[in-house]
Amino acid sequence: MENRENFITAFIKDDLASGRFDHVVTRFPPEPNGWLHIGHCKAFYIDFSTAEQFGGACNLRFDDTNPEKEDESYVQAIKRDVKWMGFDWGDREFYASDYYEYLYELAVKIIKKGRAYVDDLSEEEISAYRKTNVADKNNITETLPGEDSPWRNRSIEENLDLFTRMRAGEFPDGAKTLRAKIDMTSPNLLMRDPVMYRIKRDFHYRTKDKWRIYPMYDFAHPLSDAKEGVTHSLCSLEYEIHRPLYDWFIREAEVFPSRQIEFARLNLTYTVLSKRWLSQLVRGKYVSGWDDPRMPTIAGLRRRGYTPEAIRSFASQIGVAKMDSVVDIAFLEYCLRQDLNKRTQRAMAVLNPLKLIVENWEEGKFEELDAINNPEAPSAGVRKIAFGRELWIEADDFAEVPPPKYFRLYPGNSVRLRYAYIVTCVGYEKDENGVVAVHCAYDPATRGGNAVDADGVHDNRKVKSTIHWTAAAKAVPITVRVYDNLFAVEKPMDVPPGKTFLDNLAPHSLETIETAYAEPLLADAKPEDRFQFERLGYFVRDADTADGKPVFNKTVGLRDTWKKIAGKVL
Ligand code: ATP
Ligand code: MG
Repeated sequence: MENRENFITAFIKDDLASGRFDHVVTRFPPEPNGWLHIGHCKAFYIDFSTAEQFGGACNLRFDDTNPEKEDESYVQAIKRDVKWMGFDWGDREFYASDYYEYLYELAVKIIKKGRAYVDDLSEEEISAYRKTNVADKNNITETLPGEDSPWRNRSIEENLDLFTRMRAGEFPDGAKTLRAKIDMTSPNLLMRDPVMYRIKRDFHYRTKDKWRIYPMYDFAHPLSDAKEGVTHSLCSLEYEIHRPLYDWFIREAEVFPSRQIEFARLNLTYTVLSKRWLSQLVRGKYVSGWDDPRMPTIAGLRRRGYTPEAIRSFASQIGVAKMDSVVDIAFLEYCLRQDLNKRTQRAMAVLNPLKLIVENWEEGKFEELDAINNPEAPSAGVRKIAFGRELWIEADDFAEVPPPKYFRLYPGNSVRLRYAYIVTCVGYEKDENGVVAVHCAYDPATRGGNAVDADGVHDNRKVKSTIHWTAAAKAVPITVRVYDNLFAVEKPMDVPPGKTFLDNLAPHSLETIETAYAEPLLADAKPEDRFQFERLGYFVRDADTADGKPVFNKTVGLRDTWKKIAGKVL
């Protein structure tokens, strides 16, 4: 795995050099409340590749301490997607919910040290005592000191008794909390006696109804890291302000000294990368599901035709930074094209079909021609494609009256039909709806052309355009879904007051072409088989069929916009 030197590896090297640790363990800790997105790919790429670089291990830990939205189906989806991306956690699969007893014991230990207390204040009262206001919630710092809860000085015995009874289910939901006794005047609001446990009678997908109290993230996360002997807990930048708390719990619980290191979150133009927003799109049916090909989820990208290699190359090249930034989606597409260009089978498909009739070709006669499977991989060889009298071509490859610089078919003009012959337009048929057929004559001396001159016939004529086609009698009908960005603006989360990111959804991000015509090869394609349709872009066979026709999703076009903007972005 490719991994460059960065501030994380420098940090770890220092820890190894100073003897703080003699090995490296990292972890990827998704909460099973949604499917993974490409931001998670960045995170687990860093987690796995950093561990590998130091000969260490990376744990897959389900951070499942919040019963409301978690579910086994998400666990399965997460495992499938991490695996598909090519990462292997072996037997290092863990669940924070397996640590509930251990976490409870540590909470008791902290109570016994006089560093935690049971509070009777409600959630709203806790906020009020902290002096939190709306503005603070965003930047989590406050200059006005908070006030102690009237319950802060309960005796250790009373706290132990109440905490035991909280666990036993003696109090209703929300009636009490267990709070760490830190500092109600800290400028960091998170340090103002954070809640460690709350009472909740929610059913947990793994522990069922065994627990009536659930640990909070800030308490559970560091201690779960410690339980697993995680040396370096790598997470995104929004956790930086939580680090003093992370360290506080490790110290007070007297456990393995895991360390937290933060890196910048991945943001991409024209999309949102947070499960919270993505699940809103799914629930509101703005997309067909978590795996809608317009979604930045791993499953969505897979269905769109992305390869794990392309995503890994992207993750490697964006690197690790300490500053949040927005990566242009064109760069992700660039990484994808680099990979697809090397590996995909070429094929010809016509998305907007217009009949082309070769007048000097015998009716009912077909000829087999050689077509190159992949010019980037000569070992992929050639395949046979049939040429006949009636062909499909793209409607916009013909013009009755050519606009300036139009070199494709128009009356009197000649083009090459890819892998076949040069043809000259000799006329066309029209009805009230427009052009219905184009007539041409082929030149037998131009067979093969830029393909394989197997019989030694050389292309002795030059034309300015080569167009793709399929033989009408042999072509298979397919349905094609063409996608655009889900959002109409670069930064969908930038919204004026009163609007939400949903107002930034693009009005038309999916166009369905009911019937396109493709060469017969595509009839045998299996879901996730990828192709380059010549001149059109990359396409992938979807698992869906529409009216008996196979469905292909457009992955990305051929034209690279990244190179043009590269200078200004990276
Ligand atoms: P939510 O938006 O609901 O908080 P999340 O997208 O942050 O969800 P988690 O399951 O909380 O998902 O995250 C698992 C791990 O992935 C965390 O360590 C988090 O730091 C990391 N992560 C999540 N989103 C990104 C992102 N956009 N870029 C980099 N890392 C991310
Ligand atoms: Mg999160």
